[in-house]
Amino acid sequence: MIVAIDGPSGAGKSTLGKMLAKKLNLLYLDTGAMYRAVALAVLERGVGFDETSKVVEIAENARIELIGEPDSLKIVLDGRDVSADIRTLEAAQAASIVSTISEVRRIMVEHQRTLGENDPSGCVLEGRDIGSVVFPNADVKFFLTAKPEARARRRFTEDTAKGRLSSYEQTLAEINERDERDVSREDSPLTISENAIVIDTSELDLSEVFEQMIAKISEAKSAAV
Ligand code: C5P
Repeated sequence: MIVAIDGPSGAGKSTLGKMLAKKLNLLYLDTGAMYRAVALAVLERGVGFDETSKVVEIAENARIELIGEPDSLKIVLDGRDVSADIRTLEAAQAASIVSTISEVRRIMVEHQRTLGENDPSGCVLEGRDIGSVVFPNADVKFFLTAKPEARARRRFTEDTAKGRLSSYEQTLAEINERDERDVSREDSPLTISENAIVIDTSELDLSEVFEQMIAKISEAKSAAV
């Protein structure tokens, strides 16, 4: 079974994706982490984002592994644990820029399909183009969204708990900037794909969204038999 979760930053995709993967015993793939790993490699090598062929070469040669259970998922880049390094504001913005390069997207999509297809029980993937490009025939597609203010508030609370320094206003501006880039890029813009179940999480708590998602997955499973 393939479960696709798309939506803008801070809509709850990662938290809910991990909860679903655990509950359903499926592999969990955080595709944003893969773009962040490429972006980190680009930053560390001092390559400019406009040096497209160098960025693509880095994406092609980067060995990106997602290791462990959803809750303790490690992102490993060329054998090095970069789970913390990819979560900085700088890496988020850089990921949002490198992900506009078509050739980088092609490499990532191929990698994501291989990982998703190779798991015998199936996979929960979250990102921006899962239902539209990576797995258009996913068994269930969700599009999670929420008002920008709600998403920024959640992200700000998370960041503060992790000891990251920023302000709510900064977080809101950062989220808006990345969302704008995601919806306006030419290749695979963030969009509600055909048949996607849209859930606005602004006024819902996590368990309510989770229950709705589980119910939709059960419906899809019974319709398939
Ligand atoms: O989800 P996360 O915030 O970690 O993603 C980082 C960036 O990677 C996003 O802002 C988006 O630009 C990009 N991304 C993408 N396609 C995906 C996943 C993430 O373009 N499937």
